[in-house]
Amino acid sequence: MASARFRFHGDLARFLRADCRQEPLDYACARAATLKNAIEALGVPHTEVGRIGVNGEPATLQRIVRDGDVVEVFEIGIDPISGEMGSDPIFLADAHLGGLARFLRMLGFDTLHENAFADDEIRRIAADEQRIVLSRDRELLKCREIARGCFVRALKPEAQLREVAARYNLAVSARPFTLCLNCNVPLEPVEKNAVAHRVPETVLRLQHAYTRCPACGGVFWPGSHYQRMLEALKPVIGR
Ligand SMILES: [Zn+2]
Repeated sequence: MASARFRFHGDLARFLRADCRQEPLDYACARAATLKNAIEALGVPHTEVGRIGVNGEPATLQRIVRDGDVVEVFEIGIDPISGEMGSDPIFLADAHLGGLARFLRMLGFDTLHENAFADDEIRRIAADEQRIVLSRDRELLKCREIARGCFVRALKPEAQLREVAARYNLAVSARPFTLCLNCNVPLEPVEKNAVAHRVPETVLRLQHAYTRCPACGGVFWPGSHYQRMLEALKPVIGR
């Protein structure tokens, strides 16, 4: 056994097991436990952990806990994924986050979501496709296949979107209304003439730009519904 002293900063205390909320928090770890093992045994998913310090030195989650270690754990804050990978973040929203998934698609972010996703499927897809897993299930986020994830704190989709947008700095790369909200595939521009038979006459007179979803065949235009959604997204994308 190795006994170490832990301090959790910022918002991380919310994840701690009820019997682990005292300060200072001394915890006896199993032999050869890593910081990931110990921190998750205390209740905090590794996806929520940012910087870690051990005895005043920076450390990673893979470090083995030694007797007498003093461990400082900080929350992740802004996750610099987009800058680091040079591409937009892609997401996988778990079964309970359908509203959030639609909002992310509205902003143009590739977001997988199925009501029937089982946990093992989520773990496999996250690993295969390097998706950021969005979930309110802290046990799921402890899985090692999920390299990147976000415990979504808010309950309402609008507030959840603000949370995720802040964490991944989505305002810089948002491209509203470029994905089909139902199919999560890019919409394609389409000639007005080609869709005239699918669009009400009053709309045809006013709207000149149309898009079509190659998966479901849906035809879309920036009508009043679009304007309302854009208003709702303004606080997130800041334009
Ligand atoms: Zn579609």
